[in-house]
Amino acid sequence: MAKCIKLPGGAWNAEFQVSRYFKFSEFNGQLEMQLSETLSELPDAASQVSFILNHVLLDEHGHTVDSRIIQNGMSIGDRQFLIRELAKTLGLTQYWYSVECQFCQTRFDFNLDPSQLPVKTANDDYPLAELETSIGRLRIRVPTAEDQIFISQLTDCKGLSEVEALQLEKQVSRKLSECLLQTEKDISQLTDADIALIEAKVEEISPELTQIVQGQCVECHEINNVFIDPYACLPLLAESNLPVEIHQIASVYHWSEKEILMLSKKRRQHYLKLISQDAGVFGL
Ligand SMILES: [Zn+2]
Repeated sequence: MAKCIKLPGGAWNAEFQVSRYFKFSEFNGQLEMQLSETLSELPDAASQVSFILNHVLLDEHGHTVDSRIIQNGMSIGDRQFLIRELAKTLGLTQYWYSVECQFCQTRFDFNLDPSQLPVKTANDDYPLAELETSIGRLRIRVPTAEDQIFISQLTDCKGLSEVEALQLEKQVSRKLSECLLQTEKDISQLTDADIALIEAKVEEISPELTQIVQGQCVECHEINNVFIDPYACLPLLAESNLPVEIHQIASVYHWSEKEILMLSKKRRQHYLKLISQDAGVFGL
Protein backbone atom coordinates (compact mmCIF):
# COMPACT_ATOMS: atom_id res chain seq x y z
CA MET A 1 0.00 0.00 0.00
CA ALA A 2 1.20 3.47 -0.84
CA LYS A 3 1.86 5.57 2.24
CA CYS A 4 -0.25 8.61 3.05
CA ILE A 5 1.14 12.09 2.46
CA LYS A 6 0.11 14.90 4.79
CA LEU A 7 -0.23 18.20 2.97
CA PRO A 8 1.12 21.36 4.66
CA GLY A 9 -2.20 23.06 3.79
CA GLY A 10 -4.86 20.75 2.39
CA ALA A 11 -7.38 20.49 -0.44
CA TRP A 12 -10.85 21.91 0.04
CA ASN A 13 -14.27 21.22 -1.47
CA ALA A 14 -17.05 23.67 -2.38
CA GLU A 15 -17.97 23.97 1.33
CA PHE A 16 -14.31 24.72 2.23
CA GLN A 17 -13.94 21.46 4.15
CA VAL A 18 -10.25 20.63 4.13
CA SER A 19 -8.65 17.18 3.55
CA ARG A 20 -4.96 16.85 4.33
CA TYR A 21 -4.20 13.20 3.60
CA PHE A 22 -3.53 11.88 0.10
CA LYS A 23 -1.50 9.17 -1.60
CA PHE A 24 -0.07 8.41 -5.03
CA SER A 25 -1.34 5.66 -7.29
CA GLU A 26 1.16 3.04 -8.42
CA PHE A 27 3.42 4.47 -11.08
CA ASN A 28 3.82 2.05 -13.98
CA GLY A 29 5.23 2.44 -17.47
CA GLN A 30 1.82 3.07 -18.98
CA LEU A 31 1.35 6.13 -16.78
CA GLU A 32 4.91 7.26 -17.40
CA MET A 33 4.37 7.06 -21.16
CA GLN A 34 1.13 9.03 -20.92
CA LEU A 35 2.90 11.77 -18.95
CA SER A 36 5.93 11.96 -21.22
CA GLU A 37 3.74 12.16 -24.33
CA THR A 38 1.51 14.94 -23.02
CA LEU A 39 3.57 17.09 -20.63
CA SER A 40 5.76 18.76 -23.24
CA GLU A 41 2.65 19.87 -25.16
CA LEU A 42 1.11 21.70 -22.19
CA PRO A 43 1.65 25.49 -22.14
CA ASP A 44 2.85 26.06 -18.57
CA ALA A 45 4.03 24.43 -15.33
CA ALA A 46 0.63 24.94 -13.67
CA SER A 47 -1.14 22.91 -16.41
CA GLN A 48 1.58 20.24 -16.27
CA VAL A 49 1.19 19.90 -12.50
CA SER A 50 -2.61 19.60 -12.85
CA PHE A 51 -2.20 16.94 -15.52
CA ILE A 52 0.20 14.91 -13.36
CA LEU A 53 -1.91 15.20 -10.21
CA ASN A 54 -5.06 14.23 -12.14
CA HIS A 55 -3.31 10.98 -13.05
CA VAL A 56 -1.50 10.08 -9.82
CA LEU A 57 -3.32 11.63 -6.86
CA LEU A 58 -5.66 9.51 -4.73
CA ASP A 59 -7.48 10.45 -1.52
CA GLU A 60 -6.61 8.66 1.72
CA HIS A 61 -9.09 5.87 0.87
CA GLY A 62 -7.48 5.31 -2.53
CA HIS A 63 -10.18 7.03 -4.61
CA THR A 64 -9.37 9.39 -7.48
CA VAL A 65 -9.53 13.08 -6.67
CA ASP A 66 -11.99 15.37 -8.50
CA SER A 67 -10.03 17.40 -11.08
CA ARG A 68 -11.88 20.56 -9.98
CA ILE A 69 -10.33 20.17 -6.51
CA ILE A 70 -6.85 19.79 -8.03
CA GLN A 71 -7.38 22.89 -10.16
CA ASN A 72 -9.36 25.10 -7.83
CA GLY A 73 -9.32 23.63 -4.34
CA MET A 74 -5.65 23.36 -3.56
CA SER A 75 -3.06 26.02 -2.72
CA ILE A 76 0.05 26.51 -4.84
CA GLY A 77 2.24 25.48 -1.87
CA ASP A 78 0.45 22.12 -1.61
CA ARG A 79 0.84 21.44 -5.33
CA GLN A 80 4.58 22.20 -5.10
CA PHE A 81 4.83 19.94 -2.05
CA LEU A 82 3.07 17.07 -3.88
CA ILE A 83 5.32 17.32 -6.94
CA ARG A 84 8.42 17.34 -4.72
CA GLU A 85 7.10 14.25 -2.88
CA LEU A 86 6.35 12.54 -6.20
CA ALA A 87 9.90 13.24 -7.41
CA LYS A 88 11.21 11.63 -4.22
CA THR A 89 8.97 8.57 -4.69
CA LEU A 90 10.13 8.14 -8.29
CA GLY A 91 13.81 8.75 -7.57
CA LEU A 92 13.81 11.98 -9.62
CA THR A 93 14.92 14.34 -6.86
CA GLN A 94 17.65 16.77 -7.82
CA TYR A 95 20.35 16.70 -5.10
CA TRP A 96 23.17 18.56 -6.82
CA TYR A 97 22.93 22.22 -7.74
CA SER A 98 25.35 24.05 -9.98
CA VAL A 99 25.47 27.79 -9.36
CA GLU A 100 27.33 30.68 -10.95
CA CYS A 101 28.53 33.01 -8.18
CA GLN A 102 26.90 36.42 -8.64
CA PHE A 103 30.03 38.12 -7.20
CA CYS A 104 32.97 36.45 -8.97
CA GLN A 105 31.17 34.39 -11.68
CA THR A 106 32.91 31.16 -10.60
CA ARG A 107 30.74 28.09 -11.03
CA PHE A 108 30.38 25.92 -7.93
CA ASP A 109 28.35 22.85 -7.01
CA PHE A 110 26.62 22.04 -3.78
CA ASN A 111 24.56 19.18 -2.46
CA LEU A 112 21.12 19.52 -0.87
CA ASP A 113 18.12 17.30 -0.13
CA PRO A 114 15.05 19.47 -0.95
CA SER A 115 12.79 17.33 1.25
CA GLN A 116 14.83 18.42 4.31
CA LEU A 117 14.05 22.12 3.71
CA PRO A 118 11.56 23.76 6.09
CA VAL A 119 7.88 23.81 5.07
CA LYS A 120 5.52 26.39 6.52
CA THR A 121 2.19 24.75 7.36
CA ALA A 122 -1.18 26.48 7.09
CA ASN A 123 -3.04 27.74 10.17
CA ASP A 124 -6.44 26.55 11.47
CA ASP A 125 -8.49 29.05 9.42
CA TYR A 126 -6.93 27.86 6.12
CA PRO A 127 -7.95 28.22 3.32
CA LEU A 128 -9.92 31.27 4.48
CA ALA A 129 -9.09 34.47 6.34
CA GLU A 130 -10.80 37.72 7.21
CA LEU A 131 -9.32 41.17 7.26
CA GLU A 132 -10.30 44.81 7.68
CA THR A 133 -9.95 47.08 4.63
CA SER A 134 -11.07 50.60 3.69
CA ILE A 135 -14.29 49.18 2.17
CA GLY A 136 -15.06 47.06 5.24
CA ARG A 137 -14.34 43.56 6.46
CA LEU A 138 -13.43 41.09 3.68
CA ARG A 139 -13.15 37.32 3.52
CA ILE A 140 -10.49 35.83 1.31
CA ARG A 141 -9.38 32.38 0.26
CA VAL A 142 -5.85 31.42 -0.75
CA PRO A 143 -5.08 31.42 -4.49
CA THR A 144 -5.29 28.22 -6.54
CA ALA A 145 -3.84 26.96 -9.82
CA GLU A 146 -6.84 28.35 -11.67
CA ASP A 147 -6.00 31.83 -10.32
CA GLN A 148 -2.34 31.31 -11.19
CA ILE A 149 -3.14 30.36 -14.80
CA PHE A 150 -5.53 33.31 -15.10
CA ILE A 151 -2.83 35.74 -13.95
CA SER A 152 -0.17 34.24 -16.26
CA GLN A 153 -2.53 34.83 -19.20
CA LEU A 154 -2.77 38.54 -18.32
CA THR A 155 0.91 39.14 -18.95
CA ASP A 156 0.48 39.35 -22.73
CA CYS A 157 -2.59 41.53 -23.10
CA LYS A 158 -1.04 44.69 -24.56
CA GLY A 159 -2.67 46.24 -27.62
CA LEU A 160 -6.21 45.25 -26.67
CA SER A 161 -9.17 47.04 -28.24
CA GLU A 162 -11.46 49.03 -25.94
CA VAL A 163 -14.09 46.28 -25.92
CA GLU A 164 -11.50 43.61 -25.18
CA ALA A 165 -10.01 45.74 -22.37
CA LEU A 166 -13.45 46.18 -20.86
CA GLN A 167 -14.11 42.43 -21.03
CA LEU A 168 -10.75 41.79 -19.39
CA GLU A 169 -11.53 44.26 -16.63
CA LYS A 170 -14.80 42.43 -15.96
CA GLN A 171 -12.98 39.08 -15.86
CA VAL A 172 -10.35 40.42 -13.45
CA SER A 173 -13.01 41.88 -11.22
CA ARG A 174 -14.95 38.58 -11.24
CA LYS A 175 -11.77 36.66 -10.45
CA LEU A 176 -10.94 39.00 -7.59
CA SER A 177 -14.43 38.66 -6.10
CA GLU A 178 -14.04 34.86 -6.30
CA CYS A 179 -10.81 35.07 -4.27
CA LEU A 180 -12.36 37.60 -1.92
CA LEU A 181 -15.60 35.59 -1.60
CA GLN A 182 -17.39 38.93 -1.78
CA THR A 183 -20.02 39.88 -4.28
CA GLU A 184 -21.95 42.66 -2.56
CA LYS A 185 -18.98 45.02 -2.04
CA ASP A 186 -17.54 47.31 -4.72
CA ILE A 187 -14.02 45.86 -4.87
CA SER A 188 -12.96 48.42 -7.50
CA GLN A 189 -12.75 50.85 -4.53
CA LEU A 190 -9.91 48.89 -2.91
CA THR A 191 -6.82 51.08 -2.42
CA ASP A 192 -3.20 50.06 -3.08
CA ALA A 193 -2.75 49.78 0.69
CA ASP A 194 -5.75 47.38 0.83
CA ILE A 195 -4.27 45.22 -1.94
CA ALA A 196 -0.93 45.12 -0.07
CA LEU A 197 -2.79 44.04 3.11
CA ILE A 198 -4.63 41.29 1.20
CA GLU A 199 -1.36 40.05 -0.32
CA ALA A 200 0.30 39.94 3.10
CA LYS A 201 -2.68 38.08 4.60
CA VAL A 202 -2.70 35.51 1.79
CA GLU A 203 1.00 34.91 2.35
CA GLU A 204 0.43 34.57 6.10
CA ILE A 205 -2.24 31.84 5.81
CA SER A 206 -0.80 29.87 2.84
CA PRO A 207 1.46 26.85 3.20
CA GLU A 208 4.89 27.54 1.76
CA LEU A 209 7.97 25.58 0.71
CA THR A 210 11.44 27.02 1.22
CA GLN A 211 12.64 27.84 -2.28
CA ILE A 212 15.62 30.10 -1.65
CA VAL A 213 18.68 28.72 0.12
CA GLN A 214 22.11 30.22 0.72
CA GLY A 215 25.15 28.72 -0.94
CA GLN A 216 28.72 29.85 -0.21
CA CYS A 217 31.01 30.39 -3.19
CA VAL A 218 34.10 28.17 -2.99
CA GLU A 219 36.24 30.89 -4.62
CA CYS A 220 35.31 34.25 -3.04
CA HIS A 221 33.31 32.84 -0.05
CA GLU A 222 30.42 35.24 -0.69
CA ILE A 223 26.92 33.96 0.11
CA ASN A 224 24.66 33.47 -2.94
CA ASN A 225 20.89 33.03 -2.89
CA VAL A 226 20.01 29.90 -4.82
CA PHE A 227 16.55 29.06 -6.14
CA ILE A 228 15.51 25.47 -5.41
CA ASP A 229 12.80 24.79 -7.97
CA PRO A 230 10.03 22.58 -6.50
CA TYR A 231 9.11 21.69 -10.10
CA ALA A 232 12.64 20.63 -11.08
CA CYS A 233 11.42 17.11 -11.91
CA LEU A 234 8.87 18.23 -14.54
CA PRO A 235 11.33 18.14 -17.49
CA LEU A 236 12.53 14.71 -16.27
CA LEU A 237 8.98 13.37 -16.28
CA ALA A 238 8.49 14.76 -19.78
CA GLU A 239 11.70 13.18 -21.12
CA SER A 240 11.17 9.52 -20.49
CA ASN A 241 13.80 6.94 -21.37
CA LEU A 242 10.99 4.41 -21.72
CA PRO A 243 11.45 3.30 -25.36
CA VAL A 244 15.08 2.32 -24.62
CA GLU A 245 14.11 0.54 -21.40
CA ILE A 246 11.28 -1.40 -23.12
CA HIS A 247 13.71 -2.42 -25.85
CA GLN A 248 16.28 -3.67 -23.31
CA ILE A 249 13.76 -5.70 -21.29
CA ALA A 250 11.95 -7.07 -24.37
CA SER A 251 15.29 -8.20 -25.91
CA VAL A 252 16.16 -10.27 -22.84
CA TYR A 253 12.81 -11.48 -21.45
CA HIS A 254 10.76 -11.43 -24.70
CA TRP A 255 7.77 -9.81 -22.99
CA SER A 256 5.38 -7.64 -25.00
CA GLU A 257 5.45 -3.85 -24.75
CA LYS A 258 2.06 -3.97 -22.99
CA GLU A 259 3.36 -6.38 -20.35
CA ILE A 260 6.46 -4.28 -19.72
CA LEU A 261 4.39 -1.09 -19.40
CA MET A 262 2.26 -2.73 -16.69
CA LEU A 263 5.33 -3.24 -14.46
CA SER A 264 5.76 -0.70 -11.68
CA LYS A 265 8.68 1.66 -12.22
CA LYS A 266 10.47 0.00 -9.30
CA ARG A 267 10.17 -3.52 -10.80
CA ARG A 268 11.18 -2.26 -14.25
CA GLN A 269 14.29 -0.67 -12.75
CA HIS A 270 14.98 -3.95 -10.95
CA TYR A 271 14.94 -5.92 -14.23
CA LEU A 272 17.12 -3.29 -15.92
CA LYS A 273 19.63 -3.61 -13.08
CA LEU A 274 19.70 -7.41 -13.50
CA ILE A 275 20.23 -7.02 -17.24
CA SER A 276 23.13 -4.60 -16.76
CA GLN A 277 24.66 -6.87 -14.07
CA ASP A 278 24.54 -9.84 -16.48
CA ALA A 279 26.01 -7.66 -19.22
CA GLY A 280 28.85 -6.78 -16.82
CA VAL A 281 29.49 -10.40 -15.84
CA PHE A 282 29.36 -11.82 -19.35
CA GLY A 283 30.90 -8.80 -21.03
CA LEU A 284 27.91 -8.50 -23.40
ZN1 LIG B 1 32.31 33.88 -5.80
